[in-house]
Amino acid sequence: MTDRDTDTDTDTDTANPLPTPALTVAEVRERLTAPGQIFEMDEVDVRGVRVRTWKHAPGSIRDMLEISKFHGDKDFLIYEDERVTFERHYAIAATLAHRLVEDFGVAKGDRIALAMRNFPEWPAVFFAATAIGAVVVPLNAWWTAQELEFGLTDSGARLVFADGERADRLREVLPRLGIATVVVRPEGELPEGARTFTEVLGDVATDAALPPAEVHADDDATIFYTSGTTGKPKGALGTHRNFCGNPLGLAYLTLSGAMRGGASMEQAAGAIGERRVTLLGVPLFHATGCHAVLSTTVFSAGGLVLMYKWDAQRALELIQRERITLVSGVPTMALQLLSHPDFDSYDLSSLTAVSYGGAPAPPMLAERIKEVLPNRTPSNGYGLTETSATTTYNSGYDYVRKPESVGPPMAVSDVKVVDPAGTELPMGEVGELLIKGPNVIMGYWNRPDATANTFVDGWLHTGDLAKLDDEGFVHIVDRAKDMVIRGGENVYCAEVEGAMYEHPAVADCAVIGIPHDVLGEEVGAVVCRAPGASLTEDELRDFLKTHLAPFKIPVRVWFREGELPRNPGGKILKTRLRDELLG
Ligand code: AMP
Repeated sequence: MTDRDTDTDTDTDTANPLPTPALTVAEVRERLTAPGQIFEMDEVDVRGVRVRTWKHAPGSIRDMLEISKFHGDKDFLIYEDERVTFERHYAIAATLAHRLVEDFGVAKGDRIALAMRNFPEWPAVFFAATAIGAVVVPLNAWWTAQELEFGLTDSGARLVFADGERADRLREVLPRLGIATVVVRPEGELPEGARTFTEVLGDVATDAALPPAEVHADDDATIFYTSGTTGKPKGALGTHRNFCGNPLGLAYLTLSGAMRGGASMEQAAGAIGERRVTLLGVPLFHATGCHAVLSTTVFSAGGLVLMYKWDAQRALELIQRERITLVSGVPTMALQLLSHPDFDSYDLSSLTAVSYGGAPAPPMLAERIKEVLPNRTPSNGYGLTETSATTTYNSGYDYVRKPESVGPPMAVSDVKVVDPAGTELPMGEVGELLIKGPNVIMGYWNRPDATANTFVDGWLHTGDLAKLDDEGFVHIVDRAKDMVIRGGENVYCAEVEGAMYEHPAVADCAVIGIPHDVLGEEVGAVVCRAPGASLTEDELRDFLKTHLAPFKIPVRVWFREGELPRNPGGKILKTRLRDELLG
């Protein structure tokens, strides 16, 4: 019997609309956040901004790690045939924390970079470093040597943990940076002066404990690079509080979706209280993977199944093998899974939820999950690196009812929609979405101007155009930011354009998104050659390879005579270009 045969739940058929919500958003909020409940809230000043917080969230990532020790021999990380229990993970992180302090002299506030795939060492370094007050700088593993070098120098990292592939990529760069290097899973010869992770870690005692350190909720904890609209990526500076609020935020909105569908608080809590085994489709170096999924797994004593790289067939095998309960990724991944030709050949009965975010999800996706994986909870989360992942989450009943929305905000976050003058707009009107709350980061690392432009009086200017409906649900209408989202990975047009301009034959250029059924969008470019210059599509792509990670390189280049269409302010009219070229 396949999953399709078990669909008995017909109340969400389009011909048979869902019943009205059992509770209003305000009623759910009142019940879940009542005094004594786990979702109870508090109000605190965070560096001059008054925000609501989760009263019962762990106080720091160090606290979260300390609590995780008590999850004992439950499997935490599963990678191929390797399994790391919570107690083993704690012992490794605690031992590594000692090595950081005693061998490398790492002190509070020092930056430690991570440049690797989703290997089990990634969380170990993350927790060891943050537990002693250091700031972790996860770098995009797809970056070129030049991009990685930028991340290392911009953050001022004093130590980098790189996997074999990244260490090799950085071989030429490392000697001139003089950054201590630890290689995880080395492949071939180590870069000069580097040490292996195994050698640095040494023996791990089962009773290892963290070295002492004072770590507070509003201390800096992470720098995640987010590509800037004006060229170079910006380091989003996050705190312990930013990370630690995610598990409660996601649980709150999951419960909210279930309760509005008619479940009692106990039923809804019971369903999410079961042990969760999550298949992580996205990289840990993005906020979704790290802030939303890793934090929640540790907090809830769940299991996290890591993949060498995303592959839909492998994902199906792992769901069956590891009895995975939740698949978490970008919408593209859910689409690929559901449309895989071998979908019906696997036992997917363990799956209870499919969750995605980070990029626009086609509204048909919720309906498709309902059809192909009946009685599972689909969810769509919206957030930015600057909101430490989750801000809104549309889950279960609510999502099936409003598949075009990204859901209501977490109880601790405020959202509003404003016009270009900053005036709040009434319900239903489209403007820029602003977000305030304990999930909003402190600003950009060493970029006071960008920080001042983006964070105003505690409100984050998201650059997304949105509207709110009568229940306060957020509907993302468009992006005001000039970027292409390819399979959940942001490609900022200005960055690609900047790299293209470095080629002497490029006189003018514009990057546009080309719609793609599975990836959502792909990168396209329109180029005007300099007078008399010759340049082919392949030559341009070859040139870009040393400047940009492969996912940012245009898959299609249109050459154009003359100039690109511009408005009187000199801004390229990309909509017109898209209409002309893509119809
Ligand atoms: P990043 O900082 O890389 O996580 O990118 C954040 C951006 O991704 C947001 O500003 C949105 O433009 C987009 N985004 C994230 N989640 C969603 C979602 N669920 N639906 C639509 N767009 C999204």
